[in-house]
Amino acid sequence: MVVGSFTTEIDVVVIGAGPGGYVAAIRLAQLGKKVTLVDKAQLGGVCLNRGCIPSKALIQASHRYEHARHGQTMGITAGDVSVDFGKVQAWKQAIVTKQTGGIDMLMKGNGIEVIQGEAFFNEPHVVTVSTEEQATRYRFQQGIIATGSRPIQIPAFPFGGRILSSDGALALTDIPQSMVVIGGGYIGIELGQTFARFGTQVTLLEGGETILPGFERPITQLVTRKMKETGITLYTEAKAVSQHTTNEEVTVTFLVGGEEKTVTAQYVLVTVGRTPNTDDIGLDAIGVQRNARGLVTIDERCRTTVPHLYAIGDIVEGAALAHKASYEAKVAAENIAGVDRVLDASVIPAVVFSDPEIATVGYSEAQATFKGYEVVTGRFSFGANGRAQALDATQGFVKVIAEKSSGVVLGAQVVGPVASELIASLTLAIEMSATLEDIALTIHAHPTLSEVILEAVEGALGHSVHQLAR
Ligand code: FAD
Repeated sequence: MVVGSFTTEIDVVVIGAGPGGYVAAIRLAQLGKKVTLVDKAQLGGVCLNRGCIPSKALIQASHRYEHARHGQTMGITAGDVSVDFGKVQAWKQAIVTKQTGGIDMLMKGNGIEVIQGEAFFNEPHVVTVSTEEQATRYRFQQGIIATGSRPIQIPAFPFGGRILSSDGALALTDIPQSMVVIGGGYIGIELGQTFARFGTQVTLLEGGETILPGFERPITQLVTRKMKETGITLYTEAKAVSQHTTNEEVTVTFLVGGEEKTVTAQYVLVTVGRTPNTDDIGLDAIGVQRNARGLVTIDERCRTTVPHLYAIGDIVEGAALAHKASYEAKVAAENIAGVDRVLDASVIPAVVFSDPEIATVGYSEAQATFKGYEVVTGRFSFGANGRAQALDATQGFVKVIAEKSSGVVLGAQVVGPVASELIASLTLAIEMSATLEDIALTIHAHPTLSEVILEAVEGALGHSVHQLAR
């Protein structure tokens, strides 16, 4: 590798081109900044290449397959329904390519300089970008660190061969006959349910009392029930301890209720969390503070302990979600460009593309009460909604949480069909400090799933039309 002897002067450097970094670069360019975006891999980061987009493509394909096979409720019987997984993967990859191509076009259109290479901070204002051939030093004025995260590896289950991370699972070329999923967080649940719909015999081991830690019981129970209906074997409070791999299969030994059990499958998918990519980019030496988990400490403007450096996305506290990274990207970019803007975590929705889907925003009832609010809540089931019945998707509910005295909406939970879309109007309500009355006065089209939101809100006000008062 050739190390350049001079240092190139640049204005703002953004390290990492995921939904944090590329969005920050665009916002900076819109605000008149000269931006250099550095990534060691592809534009779009984990989200576009190995996360949100490819997983949603596989989830959708598995639902399509399931619907094609199970139309009998609506009187539809298909002939032989089969999956050509090679074609599913090609279709998924075409979406990824289109998406990343779109980012490339946006970079060019916004006049953003994109450099491929691995970044390392030598000094607070100097970063070296290395490729196999050369290393170039850049002196920058301000910077945004958006290096994202990678899957956590358990020592007894090293990735490779039959032991997969989410990256490996998304790249499988055949549908496995059987799979053990270790970890019942959102990635494990989404991928576990997807392969189960494709016909894989899935066994899921979760260390905690329930799957999807962080979500309340009435929510997780619905997903648990659906998993069991799909034939997934679920063990909670289960600890995977060791594995034995042969050419054809892996046998996992795990402890549950003090008892040792084994399960053998074609693959093991380990989804026990993600760790931030902050350990080998020189942050400690330049004074950027990180916590025990490696997350970069930031203030409400995304500024790190080195004032001209900002950090966003999976490397800072909060849910590891793409839209959170993009939201923080705009906050950081605007502050760099002199627009004073602060973070508001209450408007960041959390979505799980499980079956049924889950989407929450703001406070849960317990969180609001803990914060000292006297709350009023309303809840309505999709089972009583005509559109949900016509979609044959009646599992789930909408719950709204509001301050009792003012009616200001503090939070919402949606579990059920297209919860990921329905949460948008409730997120807008919280962003605008809307009250229950504001939503109740809004005419919701009929017959739609969004009427469940209206009914839940009317329920909180004591006059849900399609629910008898308690
Ligand atoms: P990343 O997307 O991780 O991007 C970081 C970039 O930094 C990468 O391109 C990397 O190459 C680059 N980089 C790292 N170190 C260096 C270095 N030293 N020099 C140069 N470049 C570097 N989120 C959702 O909101 N919705 C979903 O449905 C969803 N589904 C997911 C499904 C899966 C299977 C996975 C794994 C994740 C999913 N996520 C989802 C999470 C989402 O992908 C992340 O939260 C998001 O990508 C984080 O964005 P980021 O910009 O912080 O980092």
